Amino acid sequence: MDTILRLNGITKKYKKATVVDSFSLTAKRGHICGLIGPNGAGKTTIMKIMAGLTLQTSGELEFFGNKDNLDEERKRMSFMIESPVIDPLMTARENMEYVRIVRGIADKSKTDEILKLVGLADTGKKIAKNFSLGMKQRLGIGMSLITSTEFMVLDEPVNGLDPEGIVEVRNLLKKLAEEQNVTILISSHLLSELSELCTDFTIINHGKLIESFSAEELMIKCKSRISIKTDDINKTAAILEDKLGISEYKVIHNDEIHLYEMLDKPETVSRTIFENGLNITKFVIEGESLEEYYLSKVGDVNE
Ligand code: ADP
Repeated sequence: MDTILRLNGITKKYKKATVVDSFSLTAKRGHICGLIGPNGAGKTTIMKIMAGLTLQTSGELEFFGNKDNLDEERKRMSFMIESPVIDPLMTARENMEYVRIVRGIADKSKTDEILKLVGLADTGKKIAKNFSLGMKQRLGIGMSLITSTEFMVLDEPVNGLDPEGIVEVRNLLKKLAEEQNVTILISSHLLSELSELCTDFTIINHGKLIESFSAEELMIKCKSRISIKTDDINKTAAILEDKLGISEYKVIHNDEIHLYEMLDKPETVSRTIFENGLNITKFVIEGESLEEYYLSKVGDVNE
């Protein structure tokens, strides 16, 4: 499968501040890649560098296997960075027609085709001012699709949407990837917002790559843990380390241990704790939520 995007060691400095720090990412054709990180992590800056709106301080970009003449390759891409530019007094069709004419697309049927694709064909005389946020985002995505797009770059397109709006945009993007093989890079400050959409995830914090993984790997990462409470949590931790050689665990609120190892041998864990003289008050195998996993990577920074 061909690689559509390669970012190689991208760094962006503003005066002394390094806002993107040797960041790398690849995206394959037809994949939906989530760029996830808290506010201020550097997501918009990376997308602006991709769009050519700002220059990287160092590092290399490659679009469609090409490192030179990036502006030519950018014609195959569409960008929605910050809010889409929609005229609030025009209808969905008028907004689309405006973009079509400005971009010099002669084929009028393109407008109808895209209005249908983004689910706005039946909005008639309703002006964009009266659209829900989800409809506005779909219109914005539609407007960026008017020139044929192989690769879409969307900065926080579901930010501020209600759950229904998130589903609308998610379904549209899935359709574009599945039916038209469009590659998508999409950012969010919440992993959970994109968890059901993306095929690949990259976590960024303070401009640095924290981790990249596929949707399948995410499922494994969020697999079960053993949650344990006893009458002495610190002693329990010491026993797990000394007697069982366990290192993958977290102590939560000083009274509970989340254990990520030995899920296949819970009886060994409970017996070892018991045999060392401790009373077990909770011993449950449970799953970690996506958001818990994400926060364990970036810290609790989203309000
Ligand atoms: P995100 O999109 O993840 O919220 P941004 O890329 O917008 O993050 O910002 C990353 C960091 O870069 C922030 O600390 C922001 O204040 C800083 N930053 C962005 N643009 C500029 C600029 N033009 N000059 C100086 N600092 C900037």
